[in-house]
Amino acid sequence: MTGLRDLFIARGTIMRSEPGGMRMRAIAISCPALRWTPGQQIHMHVGGRGGPQRTYSIWQYDGSALELRVFDHGGDGPGVRWARTIREGAEVEFSRPVGDFVTSSAAFHLFVGEETAQVAFGPMLRALPPNSSVHGVLEIGEPDDRLPLTSALNWQYRYGATAASSATLVDAVRHLDLPDGPGVAYVAGEARTVQAIRGHLVRERRWPRRAVRTKPFWTPGKTGLE
Ligand SMILES: Cc1cc2nc3c(=O)[nH]c(=O)nc-3n(C[C@H](O)[C@H](O)[C@H](O)COP(=O)(O)OP(=O)(O)OC[C@H]3O[C@@H](n4cnc5c(N)ncnc54)[C@H](O)[C@@H]3O)c2cc1C
Repeated sequence: MTGLRDLFIARGTIMRSEPGGMRMRAIAISCPALRWTPGQQIHMHVGGRGGPQRTYSIWQYDGSALELRVFDHGGDGPGVRWARTIREGAEVEFSRPVGDFVTSSAAFHLFVGEETAQVAFGPMLRALPPNSSVHGVLEIGEPDDRLPLTSALNWQYRYGATAASSATLVDAVRHLDLPDGPGVAYVAGEARTVQAIRGHLVRERRWPRRAVRTKPFWTPGKTGLE
């Protein structure tokens, strides 16, 4: 994560850290005014100064406090440890919001991802103009892992199967009835699934590459993707 140190400009205080669903932690942080576009994320210093950072999408920001939703994947990485143990009143350091995984104007919008992706999708969906044409599939572990999204997307559940290289999510996208003509796709979550969905859209549906925005959030065996 070279260069991240330069981005660490924001300090905040934990206002709340509580369950936000079966395996989600809802974390609210008071912070200074930030420029944020829905879909952007922050790099959080989860291991104290000089320790590891992890990247989190901002679920909500009202000008003085931001909210994260951290998925507990059941392992022992520094990110989930931080989310499980951080308490009200703790001081945290994080980067300004960054990233170009944001919506743009399009005839229709396609959202595809898993538990972690729904955190970025929440504010992206809320920011779309009213009456936007929205399609998508969210594949998550259990119904109780679901976050409230404003659009009627298709939900499916893995019930214990891995989110990595998810053929069932690719298949669900393959069976979506989408409008003709160009849309924009936003695909996030496990890296190999993201790649497979992009492959389907570009090779099978003949979407232009630039119409498929991807953001890998994690993958087995790797730590701290940006
Ligand atoms: C742009 C971006 C935005 C992100 N936004 C969010 C967000 O809003 N909410 C959120 O919860 N996470 C988000 N992430 C993922 C987050 O940065 C961490 O990777 C995650 O919290 C795990 O961190 P860790 O230190 O516990 O595990 P790591 O040390 O990073 O990973 C260790 C291992 O844990 C396993 N693992 C990691 N994540 C998962 C998972 N989701 N499911 C199953 N196994 C997993 C993998 O095998 C991985 O190799 C985002 C990542 C990126 C790049």
